[in-house]
Amino acid sequence: MSARVNPVPSTGIPPAGTTVAAITAGSAAAATTAETTAGPTAERRARVDLAACHRLAAHFGLNEGIDNHLTMLVPGYSDRFLLAPFGLHWSEVRASDFMVIDFEGRIVSGHGPIEDTALYIHLPVHKLAPQARCALHTHMPYATALCMLENPRLEPASQTAIGLLDDIAYECDYNGLAFDQAEGERMARALGSKSILLLRNHGALVVGHSVAQAFERLYFLERAAQAQVLALSTGRALRRVPEPVVQATLAQWRSGAGTQVGGRDRVDLHFDALKRLLDRTSPDYSV
Ligand SMILES: [Zn+2]
Repeated sequence: MSARVNPVPSTGIPPAGTTVAAITAGSAAAATTAETTAGPTAERRARVDLAACHRLAAHFGLNEGIDNHLTMLVPGYSDRFLLAPFGLHWSEVRASDFMVIDFEGRIVSGHGPIEDTALYIHLPVHKLAPQARCALHTHMPYATALCMLENPRLEPASQTAIGLLDDIAYECDYNGLAFDQAEGERMARALGSKSILLLRNHGALVVGHSVAQAFERLYFLERAAQAQVLALSTGRALRRVPEPVVQATLAQWRSGAGTQVGGRDRVDLHFDALKRLLDRTSPDYSV
């Protein structure tokens, strides 16, 4: 039994990042409408974007072997999602490869192996977190390095980091391998209404209303973590931005200032630019 969804107001994800500057309530609402509209055109667009997301994650070194998953609810549905067959390298995923998986874990369309953590992590996250139409779980190196520290917090020591500060949840201790949906349910509770969950001793979970939104946060989370790890690697003390400035900067971002450029959302401009990179280097992603 499938559950069709109506377009809903964007209430789930607070703004985050420089890039997050780019994510206003207005743009999120537009994305939500687009991602919840059913039909072959909407599904085709979601498939192309999710395939691009796999290729780009591989391009930027965010993958680990063939592990982890990047998933997206089928537009117009709240109980089935797109999943790449396990075994494909993210650099070879195509739009036509995705299986559609329902919330019973059954293949609705497509074919290929389903790796268990897709059902144990992504299925419950999609089910329980309304802002998670797209769910990206990676062991990307710099964010994971932060997760390995006694204090994993992203520090307000760079502009990119400040933009993400109030959109990250940290309280999810490592609990061994995910063997049932309880692990994904625990992650969804820890995520709350935020869009980023840093999993202690494990990696990152990033969600969004659209593939472009989620990838934007994944990308800039890794960039901010990379800068912090590099700064700490000097052995010298971090210079943190004073708290009043941090709060004033967050307020600027929350206001949505600078989000639109030339009438378009910066998130979409960035994702479109990245897809053009793929069009030049590996155009079969959209097949
Ligand atoms: Zn993992």
